[in-house]
Amino acid sequence: MQVRTGKRIELIDITSRVRECVADSGVRNGICVISTKHTTTSIIVNENESGIVSDILDLLEKLVPVHAGYAHDRIDNNADSHLKAVLLGSSEMIPVADGRPVLGTWQSIFLAELDGPRTREVTVTVLSSD
Ligand code: ZN
Repeated sequence: MQVRTGKRIELIDITSRVRECVADSGVRNGICVISTKHTTTSIIVNENESGIVSDILDLLEKLVPVHAGYAHDRIDNNADSHLKAVLLGSSEMIPVADGRPVLGTWQSIFLAELDGPRTREVTVTVLSSD
């Protein structure tokens, strides 16, 4: 799926789109892997509540400030984006049961945009265990 992002750094809830991909796959039981194809985005699972979303972004800025003397900034000027992506990871794996991703009440799946805004590609692979 393509995801259009609107800010340099933000979390975009893609849960409903992942649910559609799982439903369209026809798989009843198994696992789904949600993966990003970029080196400056990540996939994470957490709560879609504005306070914690803001806290997560603030934490990333504290841990990896922009332009803090990184080697990669000499050629591309976005080293902090790559480093934030390394901390969060590029994929999540979620169980599938009865044709739906198994998520807790407060769990949402997010694309973390770390060097936007851009159009991003997210891959959802659904494997059957039946
Ligand atoms: Zn770069």
